[in-house]
Amino acid sequence: MSGHEAGRMPEIGEDHWEGAVAHQALEIEGEPYYLPLGDEVMAFEAAYQNRLPVMLKGPTGCGKTRFVRHMAHRLGRPLVSVACHDDLTASDLIGRFLIRGDETVWVDGPLTQAVRSGAICYLDEVVEARKDTTVVIHPLTDDRRRMRIDRTGEVLQAPPEFMLVISYNPGYQSLLKNLKQSTRQRFMALEFDFPPREAEVAIVIHETGLDRPTAERIVRIGELIRNLKDAGLEEPASTRLLVYAGLLVRGGLDLRRACELSIAAPISDDPAVLEALFALIATVA
Ligand code: ADP
Repeated sequence: MSGHEAGRMPEIGEDHWEGAVAHQALEIEGEPYYLPLGDEVMAFEAAYQNRLPVMLKGPTGCGKTRFVRHMAHRLGRPLVSVACHDDLTASDLIGRFLIRGDETVWVDGPLTQAVRSGAICYLDEVVEARKDTTVVIHPLTDDRRRMRIDRTGEVLQAPPEFMLVISYNPGYQSLLKNLKQSTRQRFMALEFDFPPREAEVAIVIHETGLDRPTAERIVRIGELIRNLKDAGLEEPASTRLLVYAGLLVRGGLDLRRACELSIAAPISDDPAVLEALFALIATVA
């Protein structure tokens, strides 16, 4: 995302198995920029060294994915990312037989590939996936660190370098989509939230190249929206949206319009709420 990355690391791209294409190892450029907000870097490294699976908790757009990419680079491991969705099954993660011409060939799914290659496997929004995925996640998260591929009869022992990371957004989950205790108690958890003001200003400046006063005004607008109580907002404006506002300003929009389009409009469809958000933006921009 950032244009300020230097160096290279391998990354295996997201694949939803639509079209059943084998995964491709993608190269991303450089160390992904991540501004630490506490002891999360040290804690993640300690988890990696001790082969503990990690859960990243927090609202959308607050840096979880960026953090995992940064840590994969720091630890020198490839990263396999899977955006979980409600059709994602255990076999999507494990792999399946595919017909290629006259042949039937086994193709590893992203989790199998991560286990084989000692990668970091990031299951983003894991609670969205089908329940049967827990059958494959559980044995990989206890001290067995094993994965059984029923279709081929193969049992894989995860190498020390393999690490499972999941993300979970507690605010967004409904009662039906809550992470079960039997799953969550297999992970150590790092809590993420929106960065404090100074850090968020630094992030917006880094990501957009904006001047400090403009970045400060964008962050101020974000804070005001987050402080709105009872506004009927499902989720407050994320750091990601503040970065978008900065990019629109860099693209030539005036600050007010940029904030309306990227901070207010995406978070609500209610005309009254939008009007209130626009009015609030006008007090700063
Ligand atoms: P999440 O995975 O939590 O939904 P992302 O990791 O995609 O969110 O973060 C969204 C954007 O916010 C990133 O692309 C990055 O620009 C910015 N960001 C948020 N927190 C940080 C941070 N601590 N350091 C650097 N960038 C951050």
